[in-house]
Amino acid sequence: MIKNIALVAHDARKSELVSWVRFNAQSCKNCKLFCTGTTGRLIETALKEELGPECPEIIKLLSGPLGGDAQISSMIAERKIDMLVFFCDNLIMQGHQNDVMGLTRLASLYNIPFATNRSTADFLISSPLFTDESYQPIIPACIESYKNRKL
Ligand code: PGA
Repeated sequence: MIKNIALVAHDARKSELVSWVRFNAQSCKNCKLFCTGTTGRLIETALKEELGPECPEIIKLLSGPLGGDAQISSMIAERKIDMLVFFCDNLIMQGHQNDVMGLTRLASLYNIPFATNRSTADFLISSPLFTDESYQPIIPACIESYKNRKL
């Protein structure tokens, strides 16, 4: 079951993420949302309009270029995030490109569902597994074996 969702969008794609969140407001209602700073402010405004008092808790971390992506990365490594929706700008490099790459690397490594475009995000949030309490993503064996590696 997905409870803790991280949401991040680069400037050129913020309106796309806000539109996705509005479209999926009912599904987000019972989740806790962790967002980079500016993305979080926009999403909070949109969800308050859509849901009023039912707006879920939105935790606004640092702005992405100031370390917000890195904060989400470390939360993924600590298993505090169940799903990531990350709409990154595919046309320009970011000043914090290293953090962008780190975030997608850790989402992949820790086997969390993550979407980098709207269609994939729609498929994730509408999956029966999204609300299936018995579903637990498999922790990749390489993580345990890496912890115990012999040098
Ligand atoms: P922002 O950060 O939500 O604070 O704009 C997003 C990012 O650039 O990673």
